[in-house]
Amino acid sequence: MLRLYDTRNRQVQQIVPDGARSLRMYTCGPTVYRYAHVGNLRSYLLSDLIRRVSERQRVRVVVCRNITDVGHLVDDTELDPAGEDKVQAQARAEGRTALEIARFYEDAFLADAAALNMRPPEHSPRASETMDTTIELIAKLIGKGHAYAVPDGSVFFDAASFPTYGEISGNRLDQLRPGHRTEGVDPRKRFHADWALWKPSDRELTWETPWGRGFPGWHIECSAMALKFLGEHIDLHTGGIDLRFPHHEDERAQSDSAAGHEVVKHWVHGEHLLFDGRKMSKSTGNVVLLRDVVDEGLDPLAVRLAFMEHRYRQQMNLTWDTLRAADKTLRRWRSRVAEWSEFPSRPMPADQVSLIEAAFDDDLDTPLALRLLRELERDDSIAPGSRLEAFLHLDQILGLDLSLDIGRSRSLPAGAAELLEQRERAREARDWPAADRLRDELAALGVKVADTPEGQTWSAFWD
Ligand code: AMP
Ligand code: ZN
Repeated sequence: MLRLYDTRNRQVQQIVPDGARSLRMYTCGPTVYRYAHVGNLRSYLLSDLIRRVSERQRVRVVVCRNITDVGHLVDDTELDPAGEDKVQAQARAEGRTALEIARFYEDAFLADAAALNMRPPEHSPRASETMDTTIELIAKLIGKGHAYAVPDGSVFFDAASFPTYGEISGNRLDQLRPGHRTEGVDPRKRFHADWALWKPSDRELTWETPWGRGFPGWHIECSAMALKFLGEHIDLHTGGIDLRFPHHEDERAQSDSAAGHEVVKHWVHGEHLLFDGRKMSKSTGNVVLLRDVVDEGLDPLAVRLAFMEHRYRQQMNLTWDTLRAADKTLRRWRSRVAEWSEFPSRPMPADQVSLIEAAFDDDLDTPLALRLLRELERDDSIAPGSRLEAFLHLDQILGLDLSLDIGRSRSLPAGAAELLEQRERAREARDWPAADRLRDELAALGVKVADTPEGQTWSAFWD
């Protein structure tokens, strides 16, 4: 069964308990104010890979991945963010409305997700359309004494009311200092580490509440959407490593305080993607978009493959060379699969396939899984029809469209078909010197032959 590194418990743990048949997973979705870069996409691919591995084990997976279209402020790095909403700031910059911006970049994100073969989540709520639930949740937290409204219409979470704050990131309340931007303690707060659940405002995208008109904080939105769509017992919550604090700490405090128990069993985080040695991030201008990859003539799924060459919880440095290498491997595998599909189907090599599946189960050891897959690719002692079935089966986890070239005619250079036929006959006649000579002649034409128990196969050196 799948084991993953749990950030809060600081160990690798089994995710779906023995005998359980379902997995409920929440993934913090995109803030839709710009194109997602491939670093962001790495975080979402983690969730898709977990889904695919679990589904292979006949676990029914229910995923909620939200769309943040309101409430995420430009500077969310401090415990008490204040300032402009990311979507509204972009709307101003582009001369469009906030909703136009949000829907445009949501569509762009969904197109990227589809190009990367991410399975669509069962629930993709927009924060702006889940507002009743968010407001009810805030009211509940006030009613239970975990939050308080102040005269200007803000509502704050009372951090001290949640003593286990900090278990995910290690940032305990007594170690937190007041934010430097607020220069001391915000006088509206009881305690400097309290954070806003509701902010007063009458701009676009604001709602009426018992405390006044305004909009919610980003953290409470995720709690509300997770509780509404997945309920009070969630197996797994994923996101990029930077979301550990404050976003996930705040989410945990809110959800657990509302439910009266631990809501999320496991927190799993993906490490950052670097590009040319630096963290990929818009603020430093160091970004690659999926369409940049396509503009380079590469298959978008080369990104998916390149990411799997590293484990999700290692930082990974992406370069154009690694992307080109992944693209080449992808094309070769598709061509090999097409070549094997011309042979009779045979049962999968059970031992090899279960070793590869075990690597995925072992905290998503994708580098090992790919190494074993390459060994299987080259193992000519295994019938082509058997390798075919293994690759097609494993592609349900890999998501690389490995069957894409099946049925596409593979073209041989002039004269090669005749040489292949002569060689087949030489093999039948056990005339090994002739078979070797013909192999060399074919190689000179760029055609590589391999002998398998079921006969010879060919592939092109240029693939
Ligand atoms: P945002 O749209 O800014 O809320 O970020 C979306 C997701 O991308 C979050 O889960 C972040 O943790 C994640 N993320 C941001 N930068 C990177 C990066 N360089 N590598 C991997 N994940 C990232
Ligand atoms: Zn979230």
